[in-house]
Parts: sequence; C-alpha cells; structure tokens
Amino acid sequence: MDMDGHLSESERAIVERARIFARDEMAPKAPGWEVTREVPLETARAAAEVGLCGLVVPEEHGGIGLGISAMARVMEEMSAVDFGFPFGMVVHNNLAGSIARNGTDDQRQRFLPDMLAARRIGAFLLTEPGVGSDAAAIATQAERDGEGWVLNGEKAWITNAVTADILSVYAQTDKAAGWRGIACFLVEAETPGVERLLAYEMMGGHAAGVGGFRFENCRISEANVLLAPGDAFKAALHGIDIARIVVAAACCGMLRTGIDTALEYATQRRAFGQATAEFQGLQWMLADAETDWWAARLLTVEAGRLHDAGDPGAPLAAAHAKKFSPRVCLARLADCMQVMGAAGYRHDYPLARHLAAAKMAQIVDGTTEIQNVVISRAMQKAAG
Ligand SMILES: Cc1cc2nc3c(=O)[nH]c(=O)nc-3n(C[C@H](O)[C@H](O)[C@H](O)COP(=O)(O)OP(=O)(O)OC[C@H]3O[C@@H](n4cnc5c(N)ncnc54)[C@H](O)[C@@H]3O)c2cc1C
Repeated sequence: MDMDGHLSESERAIVERARIFARDEMAPKAPGWEVTREVPLETARAAAEVGLCGLVVPEEHGGIGLGISAMARVMEEMSAVDFGFPFGMVVHNNLAGSIARNGTDDQRQRFLPDMLAARRIGAFLLTEPGVGSDAAAIATQAERDGEGWVLNGEKAWITNAVTADILSVYAQTDKAAGWRGIACFLVEAETPGVERLLAYEMMGGHAAGVGGFRFENCRISEANVLLAPGDAFKAALHGIDIARIVVAAACCGMLRTGIDTALEYATQRRAFGQATAEFQGLQWMLADAETDWWAARLLTVEAGRLHDAGDPGAPLAAAHAKKFSPRVCLARLADCMQVMGAAGYRHDYPLARHLAAAKMAQIVDGTTEIQNVVISRAMQKAAG
C-alpha cells in the first residue's frame, strides 16, 4: 500500500533517508538515551549530515525546503523508533526555518550555517513556570535600554534546553498591549545574564533535553530581534500549528511500531496450545488499534495537505489531528502492551518508551483541551 501518494519523488526520497537514519543511527541507541539521560548531540550532527537539520529552510538558504506534509512524514519515520530525539530536532528545524524566513541577512549569516550543521542547537522559549496554555500572559520582560533590550524572567519546559546555543526568547515589551506587546529575541546561551537550569526528570522523552532558563539583566542588541512586537506572537502560534501536525504524525509512527511489535510477538508466543495471535480477543484489540492508526494518519495527512495548500482551515484540521492522534496512540499502545502480556512491559521492547512519549505528545504544542478550545470556537463561529 502506498502511504506517500501525496508526496513528490524528491520528498519521498527524503522520507526514505529519514527511515534509514532512524533504523541505523537511532534504533541502536534510543533505549540507552532514556537510561543514561543522554541528549545525543552526536546523533543530531549525524542527522545534519543527511540534511535533517534544514528540513524547512528554503534551498536558497542551504536547507531542503520541505512542505509540512513531508516534514510530518520524516517525523513519523523517526518517531517510530523514538519520540524525544526527533521532537528536539523539530524544534531545532523550526527555529532554523523561522530565522531563514523572518530573520535579517545578518541573522541568517550568523546563525544558519551552524544550525544546519547542528554545531549549534536551537530552542523555542515561550512557556514559563507560571504560564503555559495562556501563552499571551507571559511575564518575561524586555525593556528598552538605549539601542538594545534587557531581558528579565524565567522560562520553563524548554525542549533542547540541555544542549541549546541559540534561544528564541518570547518576552513582553509592553504589558498593556497584551499579545501585541510580545517580541522574539535571538539570545546566545553564553550571553551574560543567561542561566541554564537543571534538566527535568520526566516520565520519558529525555532525549529532548527539557529544562529551563533564567534571564537576569540580560542585554540583547537590536540586531538580535527576530520578530517585532505584533508579529512575534502570531508567528509563535503559526509555528505551533505546524508542530501540531508534526506531533500527530509522530504519534502515528509510534503507534505503528506498537501494533507491528505486538502482532509479531503474538504470532510467536504460544498459550493453551496455540499462538496467542489466534485468540480473537487479541485480534480485535489489534484490529481496533489498526483502525485508530488509519484514522489518525488520515487526519494528519489532511491537516498537512491543507497547510501546504495555504488553506485557512489548516489550523482547525491541525487541532483535530493533534487531539486525536496522541489520544489513540496512548490508548492503543497500552492495548498493544496488553497483547504482549508481561513482555510488553519490559524495556526490551519500545512500547513503554513510546507510551510515556504519547503522554508527552498530549501536552506539548497545546494540550488536548486546548485543541478542543480551537475546535469549539470554530464550531460556534460556523453556527453563527
Ligand atoms: C516535554 C515537554 C516539552 C515542552 N517543550 C516546550 C518548548 O520547547 N517550548 C515551550 O515554550 N514550551 C514547551 N512545553 C510546554 C508546553 O507547551 C506546555 O506544557 C503546554 O502548553 C501546557 O501548559 P502547562 O503545562 O503550563 O499547563 P496549564 O496551562 O497550566 O494547563 C493545566 C491544565 O489545564 C488545562 N487548560 C488550560 N487552559 C484551558 C482552557 N482554556 N480550557 C480547558 N482546559 C484548559 C490544560 O489542558 C491542562 O490540562 C513543553 C512541555 C512538555 C511537557
């Protein structure tokens, strides 16, 4: 069955490259990353060597300029093996893409070559200890200081915090202006006044290197403003819409692995004189998982297609995909584990790692409830 009919030949080639990369470079190491808490910079650099750090950077700026449908497929292939590492790669790729599209020539020259080679890693700093879903309420302040700016505040739950060198920091320049006062600054992690906080201990996904940063009288030059007040918050939401499609795709990848692993195991495992795959109860569990995988994938592909076509319905489609795909991934991975009995519970198989990551996928880039806020608003608007 051709699952990539919506992609061009060159996009298919990149998806295939990602599949091989995941198999050869990620699969042997991913279980260990979770145990040692390693944030695998070497693997990021290997990804860069095969073009996986410039996915959404236009070709004229040194990237491969993929559409979101193709980027989502790349993420699906990589996440079939592990979610944390490619999630960090998506954040890095998205910042590189944003600098290419929105940055000045000077910013592109200073940051892009190192980011494309993964010599320097990017991060997206919106969330704070006191503010998550209600992102327009961020408290980190940017105050004018002569020609430049001074940042004060704290950021939390930042993917790539452990390894990041280039921080895209969202900060409020004028509290009274609400979201319109928010600007985005490119802050180099070694800038005086930047403190990298300890990495978080989480349920899973540690290869994403999640942690926080504190900014204390951190001076930033005007040349490091990436997005001005008025533009920054809109751009952040646009980036999050894209990430929703990519996270939905990642969940398709993880669930695919869960179903395939459980089916293969049940075909070998014997109980009461037959393969456990012969028990109808288990067959139906896997059949339901397969239907949900199809549904998640169709929602995800459609959201990507609408996005790439510039359709104004794309954010709503992304919300549906981001709600549905992590939800069924979490529920059906648990069923796949059940099909395998005790074996599925061991880290010898990837199901437990993926199950923890599916929970993470329900929170990142807008929780399930926030997707419902988007969907409900659209329903009410349509109803007049
Ligand atoms: C592993 C991981 C990586 C992350 N990486 C990044 C990153 O790189 N950069 C970054 O900026 N952020 C990042 N985040 C933060 C993420 O975007 C936030 O966690 C998310 O937006 C939710 O915010 P919160 O956790 O503060 O929950 P809260 O906003 O405190 O919400 C708590 C609960 O209330 C619900 N809720 C909130 N508002 C509503 C509403 N209007 N209606 C109904 N229910 C509501 C939520 O759904 C949730 O169940 C990451 C998070 C995780 C877990």
